[in-house]
Amino acid sequence: MEGMDHSELQRAAKDHLWLHFSQHGRYVGDGPEHDVPIMVRGEGVYLYDSRGKRYLDGLAGLFVSQLGHGRRELAEAAAEQAGTLAFMPLWSYAHPPAIELADKIASYAPGDLNRVFFTSGGGEAVESAWKLAKDYFKRVGKPLKHKVVSRAIAYHGTTHGALSITGLPSLKQQFEPLVPSTFRVPNTNLYRAPAGTAGADGTDAAAFGRWAADQIEVAILDEGPDTVAAVFLEPVQNAGGCFPPPPGYFQRVREICDAYDVLLVSDEVICAYGRLGSMFGAEAIGYQPDIITSAKGLTSGYAPLGAMIASDKLFEPFATGSAMFAHGYTFGGHPVSTAVGLRNMQIFEDEQVLQGVQDRAPALRATLERLLDLPIVGDVRGEGFFYGIELVKDKATKESFTAEECERILYGFVSKRLYEEGLYCRADDRGDPVIQLSPPLVCTQEHFDEMEQILRSVLDKAHSLI
Ligand code: PLP
Repeated sequence: MEGMDHSELQRAAKDHLWLHFSQHGRYVGDGPEHDVPIMVRGEGVYLYDSRGKRYLDGLAGLFVSQLGHGRRELAEAAAEQAGTLAFMPLWSYAHPPAIELADKIASYAPGDLNRVFFTSGGGEAVESAWKLAKDYFKRVGKPLKHKVVSRAIAYHGTTHGALSITGLPSLKQQFEPLVPSTFRVPNTNLYRAPAGTAGADGTDAAAFGRWAADQIEVAILDEGPDTVAAVFLEPVQNAGGCFPPPPGYFQRVREICDAYDVLLVSDEVICAYGRLGSMFGAEAIGYQPDIITSAKGLTSGYAPLGAMIASDKLFEPFATGSAMFAHGYTFGGHPVSTAVGLRNMQIFEDEQVLQGVQDRAPALRATLERLLDLPIVGDVRGEGFFYGIELVKDKATKESFTAEECERILYGFVSKRLYEEGLYCRADDRGDPVIQLSPPLVCTQEHFDEMEQILRSVLDKAHSLI
């Protein structure tokens, strides 16, 4: 079948495609400035658009493409499985790729997280984790436990449950009323730690971590420990621009969760599968969750798949008799997706992808930290292959942009210009204005340098627009 050419694609995209989280008004009108960006091909760490222009994929698609683009082995794993058994649900039946991938994931997962519940993506994994937490406590005689604590500005997905756990009021207001019973605590933004929480000079990370973790205890006590089921935290929070946990933070959170019998859910939709240099973020940072939610990098994006990984303790009430977790998705654990996930994990092992991230992460950090000499760059923060660069109006006072400046400078200039200069990444003002970087795990120094050079030239010019 003959595909559409560039102008036919533009017309059809504008007339019929509904983009996610997108202002369609930007695409109204003729001329290249109103074009929908259309990517047609990927090769290694580069993407190519419908005009043939090349972009460095600085975001791994959307924190997804761990192994980069155009890997034949992954495409072949999908084709082979589609030709063998294209579909079978996991509703009372099983199939080899789901069984083998569950076995593989359980072998990597920390501690006794041995039970894998597949979904189609990350939001469904979060949704599943909350439902499991509620169901579990009903079965062990604590039926009041149902509430969830999560952090300000954290993003956990868009389905009603996951959106309720999300800490971004602007994403929620159009969809209220949402699922009740979720509560927010402060996140671990050390750069903007409230006065007095990070020592006298605002740089005592351990003191800040203790304070931030203790806010979880405050929330649990305020709500009543008998009613709180779970705390949902990312190892490194994405929204807001990469907030790593201060030292001791997760150890204290674990203590609090144990003290009040609250489940610790590690939302690793971004941080799992190598992003922080380990198979799981909890392992990279050193804590033991009760549940891990994951998706994205599990298949490097060659097929959609998510996984909720639960501890033996949580599975126990469902293990015998007529008990059933009455929950599932038609496409959760799809044979093609799980076959791709298995092949992806095999490549991780064969090519020592985790070791590669660990080896090259310090160089990525050092390369991005060079940008701190620019007056507009307030903070460079992150872990592994996962970074946020916070832009400020005034470095000395850390004054941020106004809403008008965000629109004009962040979206009107920085975002557009980075793209024009050939860097695909993301400008975000869900917290303070940041540029998010999360390149494929196979990137090397030449790609780090290319990112830094494009960022430097664009951010330098952006400063003159303030
Ligand atoms: N949780 C986290 C931490 C995420 O970053 C995301 C998506 O970016 C989700 C959940 C939702 O995942 P999905 O878009 O696959 O539903």
